[in-house]
Amino acid sequence: MTILQGSCHCGATKFEVQEAPESVTCCTCSYCSKRGSLWAYYTPDQFRLTTPVEDVATYQWNSRLIKHHFCATCGCSTYCESPDFRSGAPDFEHPRLSVNARLFDDFDLDAVPLETIDGKNLW
Ligand SMILES: [Zn+2]
Repeated sequence: MTILQGSCHCGATKFEVQEAPESVTCCTCSYCSKRGSLWAYYTPDQFRLTTPVEDVATYQWNSRLIKHHFCATCGCSTYCESPDFRSGAPDFEHPRLSVNARLFDDFDLDAVPLETIDGKNLW
């Protein structure tokens, strides 16, 4: 199994995922459009934080259903924890990890399709 590693700018947050994304997602919601992250989605068992969770800071807004994590030192957007929203309603039985694909080390973002979701109008 291929393991892909990612890290924030300063290295205080490092993580690994079980496989490279087949596509990455650009979301147009008010948060993502300012943040500029590109998301790759995983189940919690496919993601592992390899640095102390104490170095992770968290931002929540609006419904507070999503934990937007970022590095407490350098501020890079790192990953989010949320229920699965793909059915339209939050599915708390199926938590999802959104990883900022820009932080993957040695991964060519231009090699995978970029999908845009209309978060600006969806939530
Ligand atoms: Zn950092």
